[in-house]
Amino acid sequence: MIGTAVVVVGGGFAGLVSAAALAARGATVTVLESHQGFDPRFRGELIHPRGVRGLETLGLKAPLFEAGGVAVKGFSVSPGADVTPIVLPYGVSFGTGLGIDHHAMVGKLREVVGKRPGVTLLTGQRVDALLQDGPRIRGVRTADGREFRAELTLGADGRQSKVRSLMGLEPEVKLLSFTVAVTVEGDVMPHPGHGHVFLGAPGPILAYPYGEGQIRMCIDVPVGEAKGKDAIKKYVKDAFARFVPEPLRSAMLASLDRRPLEGCATHAVSTQACAAPGIALVGDSGGCMHPLTAGGMTNAVNDVLTLSDCLGEELALDAALLEYQRRRYRFVRAREVFTEALYEVFRAHDDGAKALQAGTFRYWASSPRARATSMGILSAEYADPRTFVSEYARVMGLSTFHVCRDALKQRTVRQGASRMQALLSTSFERLERTFSRVVSTVVQERRAALHQVQPSAAPPRIDAAA
Ligand SMILES: Cc1cc2nc3c(=O)[nH]c(=O)nc-3n(C[C@H](O)[C@H](O)[C@H](O)COP(=O)(O)OP(=O)(O)OC[C@H]3O[C@@H](n4cnc5c(N)ncnc54)[C@H](O)[C@@H]3O)c2cc1C
Repeated sequence: MIGTAVVVVGGGFAGLVSAAALAARGATVTVLESHQGFDPRFRGELIHPRGVRGLETLGLKAPLFEAGGVAVKGFSVSPGADVTPIVLPYGVSFGTGLGIDHHAMVGKLREVVGKRPGVTLLTGQRVDALLQDGPRIRGVRTADGREFRAELTLGADGRQSKVRSLMGLEPEVKLLSFTVAVTVEGDVMPHPGHGHVFLGAPGPILAYPYGEGQIRMCIDVPVGEAKGKDAIKKYVKDAFARFVPEPLRSAMLASLDRRPLEGCATHAVSTQACAAPGIALVGDSGGCMHPLTAGGMTNAVNDVLTLSDCLGEELALDAALLEYQRRRYRFVRAREVFTEALYEVFRAHDDGAKALQAGTFRYWASSPRARATSMGILSAEYADPRTFVSEYARVMGLSTFHVCRDALKQRTVRQGASRMQALLSTSFERLERTFSRVVSTVVQERRAALHQVQPSAAPPRIDAAA
């Protein structure tokens, strides 16, 4: 990679981590960020230990703690109002996670990575075209007409990626919900130093520390439930607040009254390809999931380190990109199937998912091994779909046993049969979707070809030797 010219589109989390990793391999990296300052949209703030360890290898962990980040030790999950939560610690060997204000994090990364040898960071540069030489990408053009030529172009421009659409990729996009972000101050968390998930409301509530004495709550509001800022605030107060324990609940209500409403839509974006000759996608531009599992940035670190490893293996550039694509989807598909299943179980919108949720809590209560394995999957330490399927089967078995036992005990056989039918239908549908995702990944691996970007209608902007 020494001396290879790389242009990175997007100076957010994934773009900056990519610049650090590739500059460390000797590349000359130009990062182009469209905003003069920060992208104002609400973005993630909790990074799992796997992501933190990745940042450490790039010398980026300590600066983020200096910038106000705090350690996160694991999760506490509560199935309903006034029910004792289950604590799921990160394994000791995995280390701690990190909670940090998103803008403070991006600001610090820009300061630190922007000073690294070989890195140039330019803000106010919105990329709106790719420079093409036939199907090969040779850099980008910005909205004001500046051209940046490079041997490797990286799209790190987020979930609504312009680069992805310029490559001609058509991902599957689903609007899932809206996240209302509430900021709370004080020592009001039931388990300080942990992420919290509160269930029972129309959507899950995620709460985590993002600085000393600072807590962010991400409230998952179903699509179409309320329109307009005041109506959304009222809906959150009426439908969600009672599932949050005191004193956090009062602090949340006070914050809703005092502060302007903040939040954003949540989408699932699933891609089938993330590389083409001379170009690759990293971070959310390559796809994203519901933020419930707080995995976006850990996945982005995985993308960057996987790509950096492939580029370091002395393969020709396109062979390295193909290898990146292959390894990336193995990891990403496992994350997708787990996140979808967990969101379904946590929302518990039908009888099948409700039975699975009850089974999940029983399973966690049953043994430390169950809690450790689930947490290993949640935090992306175990990213093999087989681990997820075997844990899901255990939860399904336990849920089935309890549905049968309750029906026999209460002599409500007809009701029990209908609950059993719902449970089996939800579970088998989920397993079927999981298998079809895994099969499509295997098929994609066998295809072993990079996506071919169609030559643009405009004449090539640069000559083949550039
Ligand atoms: C509500 C919510 C909560 C979340 N919570 C978590 C969490 O707790 N933990 C977690 O790990 N993840 C979380 N995520 C996901 C996390 O925010 C993303 O995974 C992460 O921000 C991805 O970083 P990125 O750099 O790929 O994209 P982004 O953070 O979106 O950054 C993209 C950058 O590219 C720039 N850009 C866009 N277009 C162009 C262009 N044409 N030219 C130049 N620049 C451009 C943007 O201005 C931006 O700076 C959450 C997401 C949401 C929506």
